[in-house]
Amino acid sequence: MRRPPAPYDADTRLGELVVSEDEISARIAQLGKEITADYAGRAPLLVGVLKGAFVFMADLARSLELPIEFDFMAVSSYGSATKTSGVVRIVKDLDLDLTDRDVLLVEDIVDSGLTLAYLRRNLIARGPASLEVCALFVREGNAAVDLDLRYTGFRIPPAFVVGYGLDVDERYRNLPFVAVYQPG
Ligand code: 5GP
Repeated sequence: MRRPPAPYDADTRLGELVVSEDEISARIAQLGKEITADYAGRAPLLVGVLKGAFVFMADLARSLELPIEFDFMAVSSYGSATKTSGVVRIVKDLDLDLTDRDVLLVEDIVDSGLTLAYLRRNLIARGPASLEVCALFVREGNAAVDLDLRYTGFRIPPAFVVGYGLDVDERYRNLPFVAVYQPG
């Protein structure tokens, strides 16, 4: 089992290292090349889902050699701290108009896919020219709906993880890697 690097290894709530900082940056460089090629000649609008996607969005955006624009929306899903119900409330809406834009929705992690399914319906209704999804992490085996992800960073095992934007009660978002969270 891999452990988080020092000094984070002293935190007993952090379990197995799932994806290292180097693995994340290598994968984002690959995704950046792929997306740059796919969107050549176009100016996509990246839509980030706050708060979790902000770290990924910042690194992904700098790997794209395209004239991109950004926007963000914040959603809160009803449910317990570690399980979503699929009922989503928009806490902060987009500032920009999506009409005829090539929209790339940037997600931190897709678990059941219920949050994504809601967002996809919501954004499609605004009349974009295209809508694709780039998710850094997808949890294996939990999808309740067809995910239809154009770009995926990593498939990860069924444990609750933190770091690289992902939190527990707003903590751990700034870890440069992703590790299993093990309370108590
Ligand atoms: P879904 O609707 O796909 O079940 O859940 C997606 C949302 O749940 C993510 O955007 C994220 O906010 C949260 N989530 C799912 N799995 C994890 C996890 O392992 N760690 C953290 N911190 N959040 C998660």
